[in-house]
Amino acid sequence: MRPDILVIGGGVAGASIAWQLAKHGKKVLVLERDMLGSGSTGRAAGLLGQLRSSEAATSMMIESLAIVKEMESRLDTNIFVKTGSLRLATTPERQKETQQHVEFGQSLGLDINLLDRPEAQKLLPYGQFNDVLASSYCPSDGHVMPAELLDGFVRLGREEGVVFRTQTPVSEIVVRHGRVEGVQCADEFIACPIVVNAGGPWSYLLAELAGTTLQTCALGHYYLTTTDDVQHPIDRLSPAVRDYDNRIYSRPETGGLLVGIYEAEPDRYAMEDLPADFDMSGMSAARDNYSVALLMDAAQRRFPFLTDRVNFIVTHGIMTFTPNGSPLCGEIPEVEGLFHCSGFCGHGIVRSPVIGTIMADLILEGKERYDLEQVRADRYFDLEGYQSRADIIDKGVHSYAAHYGKQDPKLN
Ligand SMILES: Cc1cc2nc3c(=O)[nH]c(=O)nc-3n(C[C@H](O)[C@H](O)[C@H](O)COP(=O)(O)OP(=O)(O)OC[C@H]3O[C@@H](n4cnc5c(N)ncnc54)[C@H](O)[C@@H]3O)c2cc1C
Repeated sequence: MRPDILVIGGGVAGASIAWQLAKHGKKVLVLERDMLGSGSTGRAAGLLGQLRSSEAATSMMIESLAIVKEMESRLDTNIFVKTGSLRLATTPERQKETQQHVEFGQSLGLDINLLDRPEAQKLLPYGQFNDVLASSYCPSDGHVMPAELLDGFVRLGREEGVVFRTQTPVSEIVVRHGRVEGVQCADEFIACPIVVNAGGPWSYLLAELAGTTLQTCALGHYYLTTTDDVQHPIDRLSPAVRDYDNRIYSRPETGGLLVGIYEAEPDRYAMEDLPADFDMSGMSAARDNYSVALLMDAAQRRFPFLTDRVNFIVTHGIMTFTPNGSPLCGEIPEVEGLFHCSGFCGHGIVRSPVIGTIMADLILEGKERYDLEQVRADRYFDLEGYQSRADIIDKGVHSYAAHYGKQDPKLN
């Protein structure tokens, strides 16, 4: 097959983009270094909160959910689990912010309300709410199951003719006179005028292959999942929780509870130092790991049943962060035909459905339906303080730490 477009990366971003491009009649080849979903996608929790900090970001999330629902009906499968979500405030500042959050959501037509403490407690009997001053509740939120979502993109993509090649690492992106000509995979050169970099945490290395700087960094992330336990039943449809002051989030998971943390000092990874056959599913963490200890401590405050006697497993993976918490989508000057799509900052699963359509519009028509100022890939081009790895990592760590936490809360 001589592709019209090459996509590097078989995670949700690459697979979603490939499907959307193929729907427009393009011949698309996806190259994956390992197995499909073997990057961040295979490690994700999939929380989906529709209300974001801007109208455009919220509309994108609502559109993402609509695409997921369309996929479910076309494939006769289940991808989204509607549980509703609670957002908690334990300080007067957060309480005010939560009220504004609800007003903003209502102004956009979203079904979202303030709850008093007994109402919240009733929805989440296994939570501890003594310190909660206010909470908001959005009943149409929930979570997306990452493996099912990826499988959906792949099946629908294949129906449109997308070819997925696994165990095919790209070792070179060939650029001549400022234009992409194709990629090299071991001894094979694949000619193609349009290449998409959907390499997740590896994306900055792929950009470097083309002589470009992409402002993403690779940061560790942890969550725990308790096992199904008759002593502590967790309703499979109980709401997700975002507890910013405690830096944690939670959702039900097959009879157990999943709790994750956005700690202030995440682990940093240099993807170039990891072995060529690095497999994210092989990452593990001991109970006495510092981040896991922080996670356990914060989780116990909100969910007191999580004593040391409760069985849980820890999931450890790598996320891709950018300096301002928004992804990098599109071309960067000086390398025509290379489109980047990375840096989802912990939201790549839930953003991937709509991102596929946005990237297809950008690549095929050079236009976009949303105001994408915040997510343009060239927004740091030549900008001082955003070119060295050290600067990019520093800023990415800051944006991860501010994701939850007290200083610079963001809507998630
Ligand atoms: C622990 C954890 C929890 C998370 N929770 C959530 C959540 O609740 N909600 C949410 O929306 N998101 C969450 N995320 C983030 C989400 O997983 C990512 O944003 C999303 O999976 C990114 O998808 P991607 O396709 O961009 O990257 P990836 O899934 O990493 O895919 C990139 C692919 O590119 C391949 N690749 C790299 N280099 C090459 C090369 N040279 N040649 C060929 N292939 C290559 C990789 O092998 C990989 O498969 C979480 C992530 C982690 C780690």
